[in-house]
Amino acid sequence: MSAIADNLQAVTARIRVAAELAGRSPESVRLLAVSKTWPLAAVLTAAAAGQQAFGENYVREGVDKATASADRQLEWHFIGPLQSNKSRPVAEHFDWVHSIDRLKIAERLSAQRPGHLPPLQVCVQVNVSGEASKSGCAPDEAPELCRAVATLPGLRLRGLMTVPEASDDMAAQQIPFRRLREIFEAIRQDGLPLDTLSMGMSHDLEAAVAEGATIVRIGTAIFGERNYP
Ligand SMILES: *Cc1c(COP(=O)(O)O)cnc(C)c1O
Repeated sequence: MSAIADNLQAVTARIRVAAELAGRSPESVRLLAVSKTWPLAAVLTAAAAGQQAFGENYVREGVDKATASADRQLEWHFIGPLQSNKSRPVAEHFDWVHSIDRLKIAERLSAQRPGHLPPLQVCVQVNVSGEASKSGCAPDEAPELCRAVATLPGLRLRGLMTVPEASDDMAAQQIPFRRLREIFEAIRQDGLPLDTLSMGMSHDLEAAVAEGATIVRIGTAIFGERNYP
């Protein structure tokens, strides 16, 4: 078996253990394999091992991989910061966008979503740790942004996403994830049918699953350490 297939099994086992500890069904947590910086061959190896959903941060790179693997029925999730002038290829080639942080980008994606495709599935990204460097809307802006995004015809609002400040301590890792879940519950109370909490990466997936993650976004633990150009 390839290292990638071994790693996928190990990550799936981590998710299962974390879900069981939290009294949740392991099937309630979806694994998104974050393939940014890795070549198409790595994606195809993971796909051959049964992985279906892949996450990308860079528009060109993600579109190239999605196009080259179009015959495989893979699902492509855009998870990186998105500039308005690059929204069209995302609307045309991705199935999901996790990083909606302002209405303008959501409106562009909705208008640019081709009519023959189902609505683009989206999450609003929330900056729960309040770091200046991280993208995402402020927690108190999230309900209004969600209400506006939910009205756009080319999009289907699924939930919330966050990338918190890194920490080595599981109890500390859980704090921002809990905060995102509280915002999510408040928006559901308001009447929006959200079903997705996109949170948790290689180093903190257990904390995220404990706090209710329904999608974990895992790169390093599947594909290895990235070498940024
Ligand atoms: C790169 C990235 C991930 C994956 O991170 P790992 O630590 O490699 O698992 C998840 N989410 C986002 C938004 C990313 O940019």
